[in-house]
Amino acid sequence: MNGVREVDGPALLAQLRGWAEAEGFSQIGVAGVDLGSAEAGLSAWLHNGFHGSMDYMAVHGRKRARPSDLVPGTLRVITARMDYLPRDSPQGWQAVEWRRLSRPEEATVSIYARGRDYHKLMRHRLQRLADRLADAVGPFGHRVFTDSAPVLEVELASKSGIGWRGKHTLALHREGGSMFFLGEIYVDLPLPLTDAVESHCGSCSACIDICPTQAIVAPYRLDARRCISYLTIEHDGAIPLELRAAMGNRIYGCDDCQLACPWNKYARRSTLPDFDARAALDGATLVALWRWNEAEFQRRTEGSAIRRIGHARWRRNLAVALGNALRGGAGDDLREALQRERDGADELLREHIDWALAQRG
Ligand code: SF4
Ligand code: SF4
Repeated sequence: MNGVREVDGPALLAQLRGWAEAEGFSQIGVAGVDLGSAEAGLSAWLHNGFHGSMDYMAVHGRKRARPSDLVPGTLRVITARMDYLPRDSPQGWQAVEWRRLSRPEEATVSIYARGRDYHKLMRHRLQRLADRLADAVGPFGHRVFTDSAPVLEVELASKSGIGWRGKHTLALHREGGSMFFLGEIYVDLPLPLTDAVESHCGSCSACIDICPTQAIVAPYRLDARRCISYLTIEHDGAIPLELRAAMGNRIYGCDDCQLACPWNKYARRSTLPDFDARAALDGATLVALWRWNEAEFQRRTEGSAIRRIGHARWRRNLAVALGNALRGGAGDDLREALQRERDGADELLREHIDWALAQRG
């Protein structure tokens, strides 16, 4: 990174907001690099093992809480919010989602993952923002991140007014709910800081109360090892037996704590077609998705975040959901579909299939 330079901060920030809007971002903030107040909480979270097998969470150690250690020369972090609720989401979309969760034979994929993978899309657009900045001020030191382990995204977002940290540990905003992705640009430009917003969780505990696996063990404290998002996406190996029933028909991620949050009545629709739900992932039956072989899984998930978990975890998740549907009284076609795959399954999947078949009672 280069040395500190003089910039017309307020004017640059105003320009940046305009460029960001054109790139599909709905809010821009600027955070300083002192995240010291988050260090103790991060250490305690790791110490308790709440990160499960996400060892990469611990790898960067204190660098995560010190942006200028991670990228030397960093003076500010530009934070960006991109809303992802699909453009055609109806009024009362939460009720649509609750109904989906109550249909045991249908598959539920987390809303953010029904369209295009946001990682590349966000990174490209953040980089274009950085390029516009460079056109305005000349070359400067920077690095772009989105959903990246070394970055304390929610802390940066809450410091810079993108939202406050909710009791479910995600960032949320009074005028935008929490259905958004976060991205960051670490810069060596002395941009003016933007103000944090006040928390408006108050005495609400809807997210804690609704969580199917009691993963929010205390306000602002998530035990990832119990969280369905973690279990279905990040976790390799067997799904803990005691949590399988609570997964219901959730086969990739979980939105319950966000569905229950009263502020999500203000969640904004995306302006981009990229997050529109793919037909195959919206309203599909568990059996239809179970029938995808490896090649079909690869083909159908091209450009989707789901592809990252691979066919093996996809089927493991589906086996659990099929078992839950059988317990709910689903028909013989589900049982036969499971039975058909049993002999060719590897040990891990076979154990999940056997568990699922045993749910019939
Ligand atoms: S994503 Fe689901 S399982 Fe995880 S904390 Fe939220 S409600 Fe609980
Ligand atoms: S559900 Fe309630 S407690 Fe949880 S994040 Fe939303 S406002 Fe805060």
